[in-house]
Amino acid sequence: MNSIEIVMGAAAAVGTLGLAAGAWQYAANVPASQLFGRTWIDEPEPNADKRTVHLTFDDGPSARNTPELLDILGAAGAVGTFFLVGNHVRRHPALARRVVDEGHTVGNHTDMHPNLSRKPAARVQAELEACQRTILDTTGAVPALFRPPYGARRPAVLRIARRMGLTPVMWNITAGDWASPGFESLLRRVERGIEHNQQRGRTSNLLLHDASQLDGNAPASRADTLRVVQALVRRADLRFPGITA
Ligand SMILES: [Zn+2]
Repeated sequence: MNSIEIVMGAAAAVGTLGLAAGAWQYAANVPASQLFGRTWIDEPEPNADKRTVHLTFDDGPSARNTPELLDILGAAGAVGTFFLVGNHVRRHPALARRVVDEGHTVGNHTDMHPNLSRKPAARVQAELEACQRTILDTTGAVPALFRPPYGARRPAVLRIARRMGLTPVMWNITAGDWASPGFESLLRRVERGIEHNQQRGRTSNLLLHDASQLDGNAPASRADTLRVVQALVRRADLRFPGITA
């Protein structure tokens, strides 16, 4: 029995025996897992163009990084998908408006960035609603996409999001930029991920961060992330549309 069979077997036991701890961790946290409900990861056929790279940026906006990121994307005519934290939108309303005004897609990344797999349904709903309201009131845009913080979810989280008209979006390339591995290693990981997806005829959905969920008065630097974006958008063999799931 391989690990997938074990996970599938454990999934079949939901409701009677409950998920084994390892399988629950898989279903709740692994980006590609569909065990806790359907999520959007890549462009389905026949729209899949393997040159497509969806650049996604979580946790912003950040006064330290987002302006330069917008400059880089704008100069290249690239569109990003920004999963905004409500609390950060209230701190930087003009930046959030700039993201929308410059034609990028915005998504809901909750209000305060908790791990929703461990929160009661009422808190999940409140987090999504507060973020949605803040983005609408600040920018005039109504997000149609939702990304759970840490990618952590359980079936109720995805159900609540769908009921609110939000499509849950995960990713298929984990850059790991929150751990600051350095520019070279970050770029290598991203380029390998794109190549891997292309070999399988898939579009790429790249998880990056223009902020940190911990951003307070001393926001994290995302200089390496910005250099990676700069390197990617220069490539003529790739295209960078927003996500329209
Ligand atoms: Zn996040």
